[in-house]
Amino acid sequence: MKSFNYHKEPSAPANQYLRSAKEKSLPFFSNSKPFFSPQTMYADTHILHQQNSSPVIQKSPLTNVSVEDCLKQKTGDLLPGKVGVVEHINREVMLDEILGKQRKKIENEIRQDYDARKFVCEAGISAMLALYYNRDYKNRLHVELARKNFSEHPEYYSLAGIDATKQTKEMLKKKYNIFMESGDKDWSPEDIGLLAEALGKLTEKEIPLISNYHFIRWTSRCNQLIAKNADYECEFPEDYNKCGLHETDVVDRKYTITMYDCMKDDGEDKSKQGYNVRTGADTIIHEIGHAMEFGKQRLAIERATDTKKEYGRIKRQYDAATTADAKRPIEQKLKAAEKKKDDADKELDKILAGPVIDQFKRLIKNKRPLTPYAATSATEAFAEAFMLFKVAPGKLKKLNKPLFDWFSKGGFM
Ligand SMILES: [Zn+2]
Repeated sequence: MKSFNYHKEPSAPANQYLRSAKEKSLPFFSNSKPFFSPQTMYADTHILHQQNSSPVIQKSPLTNVSVEDCLKQKTGDLLPGKVGVVEHINREVMLDEILGKQRKKIENEIRQDYDARKFVCEAGISAMLALYYNRDYKNRLHVELARKNFSEHPEYYSLAGIDATKQTKEMLKKKYNIFMESGDKDWSPEDIGLLAEALGKLTEKEIPLISNYHFIRWTSRCNQLIAKNADYECEFPEDYNKCGLHETDVVDRKYTITMYDCMKDDGEDKSKQGYNVRTGADTIIHEIGHAMEFGKQRLAIERATDTKKEYGRIKRQYDAATTADAKRPIEQKLKAAEKKKDDADKELDKILAGPVIDQFKRLIKNKRPLTPYAATSATEAFAEAFMLFKVAPGKLKKLNKPLFDWFSKGGFM
């Protein structure tokens, strides 16, 4: 688990943001990385298919007058009107494909929020996607956040960007043998980028320890618990300030890492200066750290279980054979399976007798906690240490050289 001892309400309301944007005479973005020229607004009016058939949005100027017209459209129409039939159909197909079952819900929410409608009139489909992927901690529309992230990373919300994100997602699933699932929200293009950054830190030898993990995305632990039990009453602050959670079910082999919105919240935390990943990726690496601590044991348990099952299967075959002639060809197989089973048992016993966490405890004995959160428990200290090893190796080396060396040579594997 990873949590922080504060909880942030969503910051200034959307109209306040719009006001400040207006003062700077910028139509709808923060002043950091302007994507649109301040004088002209653009809307997605044409969807083209490039040579590689990856759809992109062509932008054409939309004046203030057009935004007014768009806002005055009959109830139901959200996107700027007056596009050709083909464009209209393309737009519909794209939205259905990207938003799926969520489309009706998000469109209804946008209809009821003037600022959201205005944003969609200004930036078209990209605005709808930005609103979809940037919600607040209660999973409500957060127009200000959507505008901010859209202005900083317009490429995430272009159709070409969505296409690239889809490819990244498939690559991650395949390369790391993981599952990516939605809780009360989808993995946004930004989230997928953070996950790719975190997983990208693993070495070839470490990768098998994360295989079969389910990465699930929820707004907050509170919402996740309420989804399980509608009568649940969230506790403050613990159900709101959890940023990630690592859970294992050895019997069903269900290994889960849940990531919450809070992972992206603490960008200004001074202790994070010098980290070589973006805020959010460090918290994902912390949760992966739990998987690393448990990894060797997990794989040994799986191997012991599998070899035992296989031995049982062959033994039944052997017992079912009634004559010596029928038994003979099975005998070798049975012996080999028995050896595999015994070896796996021995290996598991060895691992259980000297758990990774005990080796780790010896390495941090009489040392100050590496981070404030590392003081929570030995397992949290391990996850924090693993995170530091990946995102600030120089810092770990300075604070605890033997521990750094232990991680470097894969001591936990
Ligand atoms: Zn943790």
